[in-house]
Amino acid sequence: MPPTPSDVVICTTIDEMHNQVAFARSSGHTIGCVPTMGYLHEGHASLIQTAAQHHGLVVVSIFVNPTQFGPSEDFERYPRDLERDLAVLRQAGATHLFLPSVTEMYPDGVRSTIHIDGITDILEGASRPTHFDGVATVVARLFQAMLPDEAYFGQKDLQQTLVIQRLVQTHTDAAVSNTRITILPTIREHDGLAKSSRNVYLNEEDRRNATVIYQALTYAQNSIVRGERSRSVIEQQMLHILTSVDALRVDYAVAVDASTLRGAADLISERTALCIAVKLGTTRLIDNMLVELPTA
Ligand code: AMP
Repeated sequence: MPPTPSDVVICTTIDEMHNQVAFARSSGHTIGCVPTMGYLHEGHASLIQTAAQHHGLVVVSIFVNPTQFGPSEDFERYPRDLERDLAVLRQAGATHLFLPSVTEMYPDGVRSTIHIDGITDILEGASRPTHFDGVATVVARLFQAMLPDEAYFGQKDLQQTLVIQRLVQTHTDAAVSNTRITILPTIREHDGLAKSSRNVYLNEEDRRNATVIYQALTYAQNSIVRGERSRSVIEQQMLHILTSVDALRVDYAVAVDASTLRGAADLISERTALCIAVKLGTTRLIDNMLVELPTA
């Protein structure tokens, strides 16, 4: 049965959020949270629905975090639509919306940032050098505001999930280190394109061309299933498919170890992540697939 739409409590300050959490805990509820930048779609909704199956207070944050955007990126034009988002929240079963201002999150500006080593200098981190410092810093602050037992993230942003898992392993504040991280599968459009708030930027032709990302990922996945084990061959196969679209610029198309996101040898790992980032017009799109080799 679909959840009954109900009113979502909106908290704009950390104090309000803490009060709501304290009240929920005193009533015996646990807290599930879903950090987002808004312009919600079915990918976000699947995280919220899962959180609602496990927790009495389900809080979704909507915060377009300026510190995770580079100077020439799309912070200003990032899509925003609160009314539409509220409808998604109600339908998916969220009880609370945390909607802080930039000054609520960064009252003294951004004096210190959190840097996670080892995983942030490659792939997205290579193309967007300060991105993951912004992500780790804001996620720690969001956890300190929402005080969740469990936080839900999408595999769609695979590298981000690894950064956040390391964040909770290394952070000293219990609000961060005690948060359980749950990763859920990528929700896709009918033609395979991963749902993303940024898909709205695509014109008709770019939207059609964007399906080539999923085609490259599934081709590589099938190629591994059929027995191909050479990393360079698999990467060439993905590149070949992606470059069939003239208008598309490939940032990376790699077959790497799923936990380090690096590929040391030409032989793919037992758990391989196929990761792609491309630019179509001015829109940057990322996607990935995980492939496990059959055990002999
Ligand atoms: P965003 O609003 O883009 O920052 O995303 C908020 C959360 O939703 C992140 O954990 C994303 O990985 C997740 N997410 C975004 N797109 C999808 C998708 N298509 N399927 C599942 N989760 C997603």
